[in-house]
Amino acid sequence: MKIPNNRFLNFHAHQQFPSEEEIVIQSLFLQEDRIPENRDTIFFTSGLHPWHADLLNLIEIENRLQKLIDEKKIIAVGETGLDKIRGADWKTQIEVFKGHIQIAEKNNLPIIIHSVKSHNEVLKLKIDFNSKVPWVIHNFSGSEQIAADLIHHGFYLSLCHHIQNRNSRISEYFNTLPLDKIFVETDDFNVDIKGLYHTAAIKFRISLEELKKQIAFNFESVFNRNG
Ligand SMILES: [Zn+2]
Repeated sequence: MKIPNNRFLNFHAHQQFPSEEEIVIQSLFLQEDRIPENRDTIFFTSGLHPWHADLLNLIEIENRLQKLIDEKKIIAVGETGLDKIRGADWKTQIEVFKGHIQIAEKNNLPIIIHSVKSHNEVLKLKIDFNSKVPWVIHNFSGSEQIAADLIHHGFYLSLCHHIQNRNSRISEYFNTLPLDKIFVETDDFNVDIKGLYHTAAIKFRISLEELKKQIAFNFESVFNRNG
């Protein structure tokens, strides 16, 4: 799968639809019954969010995801993940996350991850599973050290509005991250994907056109493995 390299890719959102010049990857909640239709400018992923991890059991999760995958309705598994601040109890979150990892591995699909104060646990699971599919942490805003550890283990990081907040930890160092490992997203925040690209391009000291090309290339690296 490829995207044109002159568009703004919003790597992760829930509600937004693409406006002109944009492509959106919309993340659906598996417990809802929306039927996604991938088109040229909008792609879908689906998973049980850690906040909702107790709403479906493992069999239901597998059945629903496998059906979406078999019908080619989704291009990745997630968002799924771990959240120490909010959500279902920890044991359930871990079980549900592991269930998603197994399905992603079985189908050779990337995993989109929500990780709040859980980066070390997420990293450990990738190592334990010896996972070969791409893992992308969305709305990443962790420390420089954990970013380095994650990148070292092959993770991709998707950056959100924190890069525009001069007081945020990530705004101090994100321009040192390898460009072939990053994405940009709005999540559900009221920010403009084009503005985020501008901020990132300035900090990385590259042109907007180069950033669009790079992120289109990254999209291909993550999603083009199935031909
Ligand atoms: Zn989200």
